Amino acid sequence: MSGKLIIIPTPIGNLDDITLRALEILKTADAILCEDTRHSSKLLKHHGIENKLMPFHQHNEHKALESTLNRINTGDVLALISDAGTPGISDPGFMLVRGAIAADLEVEVLPGPTAHITALVGSGLPSEKYVYLGFPPQKKGRQTFWKSLSEQDFTMVIYESPHRILKALNEAKEVLGIERLGCVARELSKIHETYHRGKLHELAEACEQTPFKGEIVLILEGKAHFEKRQKA
Ligand code: SAM
Repeated sequence: MSGKLIIIPTPIGNLDDITLRALEILKTADAILCEDTRHSSKLLKHHGIENKLMPFHQHNEHKALESTLNRINTGDVLALISDAGTPGISDPGFMLVRGAIAADLEVEVLPGPTAHITALVGSGLPSEKYVYLGFPPQKKGRQTFWKSLSEQDFTMVIYESPHRILKALNEAKEVLGIERLGCVARELSKIHETYHRGKLHELAEACEQTPFKGEIVLILEGKAHFEKRQKA
């Protein structure tokens, strides 16, 4: 039997947001690589799956790479999951996929949840063309990051922590202007799911009054749509 690496997206909140094919692979794979075995065991338990969970996270990604590729090379089917959403999207996965491709091993990626796509579509901002920017740098390079967005024509999708979202809204407002539209998508697929939609100054004011909590995706209107709105 030939080995394979299978990338499996997992729920971003609601544990039922997982495909039948993903569940079947989680049941039958030789092992499941995950960021946090305790966290992922809850997902397996919820779906009545008993299988081996092995740690694969940003701190051991380099070290575990070779042994993981060796296992696949000798015939093991290994599934990679992360704490939430799609591995490789602001989560470990890229290096393993790249390594497997370089070693001529089979790689399969299942389609499934990722917070930025859900947030983008729910934001109501143009979703035909967008750029995904992950997390802004926390300190060094943060100003340059925001400045680089001023000429961006497409809708921008950003991950931000609840501790820095007010700062991010004020920084975005500074660079893009108070009239630019934005959306803060919080706690998607969870009990407190909320979309805050409006102009950047309205979002910053709302966040200042009642701090936005939980997991957050920030979506910003691109320059092209903004200019079109101004002319209309
Ligand atoms: N791999 C994940 C994905 O595909 O979306 C992203 C992992 S990244 C470490 C975690 C960030 O994703 C959070 O800080 C937040 O910005 C975003 N996120 C994850 N789940 C979310 C949810 N339910 N609602 C809003 N944002 C979420």
